[in-house]
Amino acid sequence: MLLRADVKCYYCGHVSGQVQGDYEDPRARWSFQPAQGSAIQRLPTRTGIRCLRCGGPVFLDEIEAIHPRACSGENTVITTTH
Ligand SMILES: [Zn+2]
Repeated sequence: MLLRADVKCYYCGHVSGQVQGDYEDPRARWSFQPAQGSAIQRLPTRTGIRCLRCGGPVFLDEIEAIHPRACSGENTVITTTH
């Protein structure tokens, strides 16, 4: 199941961006979209992100499931390694 969530800082509450990926596939690569830039970084794990403002630990907020059939074409940037 594909999920999309805001990356929020425990310390300062800043939303650094959004992650998107397959929660049920541990080998899946998660994409990270910084909130203030356009560069997309590939992340090895979901826990490899730090707050872009203060460097603090982050958690996933506003988690939403993405249904490929419901929003066709929107998640075509996601690739998984099977
Ligand atoms: Zn922070």
